[in-house]
Amino acid sequence: MIKLTIAEPDNFRNDYMAAVENLILKELKILRRSVDHARGNGLDDLSDIRSFQFTTRDVIAIICDQEKNKDDFLKKNYETTLNTFRQGAIITPHDLSPIYDLIDALIDPATSKLRELLLCEPSELENKSDELYNEFGITTVEEKKIIKIVFNYKTQTDITNAIKGFFQIKNIAPFCPYCNFHKTRYIRGTHGRGAEGFQLDHFFDKATHPLISFSVFNLVPCDWPCNGTNKLSTDFSDEYHLNPYTDGFNQTMVFKAKIDPTELTVSKILFKINENFPSDRYKQLTGNDPSVDVDTLHGNLNVFQFNSRYNDVDILERAGYVIENLNHTINNHRIFKEVLGDTADSYTNYKNWYQRNTAGRFDPLEFIHLPLSKLWRDLHDDIYLKKATELPEGAKDIINRHYTVIP
Ligand SMILES: [Zn+2]
Repeated sequence: MIKLTIAEPDNFRNDYMAAVENLILKELKILRRSVDHARGNGLDDLSDIRSFQFTTRDVIAIICDQEKNKDDFLKKNYETTLNTFRQGAIITPHDLSPIYDLIDALIDPATSKLRELLLCEPSELENKSDELYNEFGITTVEEKKIIKIVFNYKTQTDITNAIKGFFQIKNIAPFCPYCNFHKTRYIRGTHGRGAEGFQLDHFFDKATHPLISFSVFNLVPCDWPCNGTNKLSTDFSDEYHLNPYTDGFNQTMVFKAKIDPTELTVSKILFKINENFPSDRYKQLTGNDPSVDVDTLHGNLNVFQFNSRYNDVDILERAGYVIENLNHTINNHRIFKEVLGDTADSYTNYKNWYQRNTAGRFDPLEFIHLPLSKLWRDLHDDIYLKKATELPEGAKDIINRHYTVIP
């Protein structure tokens, strides 16, 4: 897990609103009209019926819990259909007031409710839907289904295309923040076709939390294995899962290599958690058990199957090469002195040397720019800081400068 860092957060938020706000408002206004019609209001002007007749049909179908014939919502039949529905309705116009009031408040620019919903902080996401439901007294399944007509990631293709376009331009995750394995940078190829891309994962599942389907910090650009093979519709919570907009592993979890002493190869990648179990962060990493792969639904290490993925043959093989290179330098002080160079440039020299030898980024803030960066950095720190007293002057400071190691 690598933290997603937004370079210019105010611009990021404002650009997101510019990309999606009007599209969502348009759909909310259509829904407000359809709900009002279901309550028996505003039926005098049906001149632009094509813009709302199918939304009204969806609203009535939800309330009656049965599919409705689309011919019943043509202009000539529309008013009769709604009158008939209201006469036999179990749900009265009064029952639709709370959902109407919520839609109305989201539309009203004076309330800022839509902006607050779309831009709410990662830590506020989990309770945001319930907060709004409670504020407006929304309790029934039907009401929640009605508002979901607008906040439906699957069917609202104009909105979801705008969201995808926004993330393609922002390109905040060159590699997957969940696993740091695969490229997720969007690349536009020839003729405007996408050449490389990403999945947009809903951190909090859109079925359980429909109102935050379009909230920007609930949308995590990631790779297909994380979204489509591992997480799927697993119901995430702040208690048991870590949102990459909030934090990465940093030093709470560090990779270690188990070396086969006879072959001098890496036999296993281990996960060392620098917390006492059970702590809040521990639960976000491995759930209700301190070991990986026991509580498979909870903890990012379990859900994204780090144990299986980081212990695949190619990773172990490459880890062996990286460790061999690093050991070569630490045992050869002449090379080390050349790497460090002049004091003024020593950090840059060291960083460049490290990046050539591991093919990962050295600075944790840049881990997301190359795959497996945290793995290589953790293996490097483990080897080098164990031999800290043997290192030439200045080397330990460089290693610790941006990445304090918890003993
Ligand atoms: Zn991934």
